[in-house]
Amino acid sequence: MHKIVVLGAGYAGLTAAVSLAGRTRRPGSPRCRITVVSAAERFTERLRLHQVASGEQLADLEIPDLLAGTGVEFVRGWVTALDAGARTVRIDDEVTLSYDTLVYALGALADTDAVPGAGDHAYTLDSAHDAVLLSQRLAALDGGTVAVCGSGLTGVETAAEIAEQRPGLRVVLLGRREPGASMGPAARAYLAGALDRLGVRVRGDVEIVKIRPDAVELAGGESVPADLVVWTSGVRVSPLPAAAGLTVDERGRIVTDPALRSVSHPDVYAVGDAAAIRQAYGVMHGTCQSGMPTGVHAAASIMRELAGKQPRPFRFGYFHAPLSLGRRDAVVQFVHPDDTPTRFHLTGRRAVWYKETVSSAPWPGFARTFRAPVSGMLAWRRGGRYTR
Ligand SMILES: Cc1cc2nc3c(=O)[nH]c(=O)nc-3n(C[C@H](O)[C@H](O)[C@H](O)COP(=O)(O)OP(=O)(O)OC[C@H]3O[C@@H](n4cnc5c(N)ncnc54)[C@H](O)[C@@H]3O)c2cc1C
Repeated sequence: MHKIVVLGAGYAGLTAAVSLAGRTRRPGSPRCRITVVSAAERFTERLRLHQVASGEQLADLEIPDLLAGTGVEFVRGWVTALDAGARTVRIDDEVTLSYDTLVYALGALADTDAVPGAGDHAYTLDSAHDAVLLSQRLAALDGGTVAVCGSGLTGVETAAEIAEQRPGLRVVLLGRREPGASMGPAARAYLAGALDRLGVRVRGDVEIVKIRPDAVELAGGESVPADLVVWTSGVRVSPLPAAAGLTVDERGRIVTDPALRSVSHPDVYAVGDAAAIRQAYGVMHGTCQSGMPTGVHAAASIMRELAGKQPRPFRFGYFHAPLSLGRRDAVVQFVHPDDTPTRFHLTGRRAVWYKETVSSAPWPGFARTFRAPVSGMLAWRRGGRYTR
């Protein structure tokens, strides 16, 4: 019995687990015991956390229900240590699980260490709990200013959502770059118009140097008063892999070989936001679009290794950048495999429909991936083409 432990039941971890389970039920497959460990029993739809922050209730997706019938064991708990030599993980400092193969999928967080005060005074969208705390604080605000720090896609979605749901609040979006900087000119112009219509004040050329309880300090001495600060910028990961001696990049993500194995510990696969995966165009950045195919590919590679074959290299190309602008508007930029914009984009109602369709695709997709791991794999890759 080969023991496979998957750490993290987010988009990448759950995809890996159900894909493994689907492959192991084929006739002649090696016997495997698959265990998934995650902090919460409820599946966190991370890409909808800005909706939670502005007061929306999401569907209650319980991980044990999503895993029902797959044979995957679910362990609820916080991973507190990894011993890559002994091949064990500690859960809640109480339970030890041993593995033959580990799939590491603990995701990433916004980097609140980037500037002083962010960790102490800013709210984040790092977990469902954080999003609920933010929604409660927003609900308690009767007027005032919300400063959203980080003008990347998460910052834009958050600012737009808050501005639409709470028109009585002033929302200011602060960042180094113009919102939608990676989009084409037409999509970028649409985005700027939408933020303007929602009343979001954009400062897309500022350097944030400090967060105070009542203000955001900018380089040059300017201070932006704020009753509430949301931090969405940067990438920070758990220190567990580095502490265990795995090779990590400058952000702490596990550096993988082309098959998604840790370069230092090949019995550890790394997927999703927690992995530093190099492609021809550079190191991939974290999205569901790319994270789910990494889970499918890790499952396929593990099964190939167990069958005595070489795992294949993972190749991925991006397909789209869908961005919600509140509940009634959106913009979708279609991209080349290297994530540079194509000429095509969607706006308005068609974009809202498109964004909603891709946001709700993952969880029915888990069941599909289990029933038909190969076609499921192709389906995920439609959301992110192979690069040539
Ligand atoms: C507001 C917002 C909007 C986004 N919008 C989009 C979008 O439109 N499209 C897109 O492609 N991407 C989007 N993203 C990014 C996307 O959500 C992430 O890339 C994706 O969630 C990464 O998947 P993952 O499985 O690697 O990590 P996660 O989904 O974060 O899953 C990691 C899991 O591990 C658990 N965990 C972490 N540490 C521990 C521990 N020590 N012990 C136990 N459990 C632990 C966590 O609880 C979590 O369940 C958005 C992100 C945010 C915050």
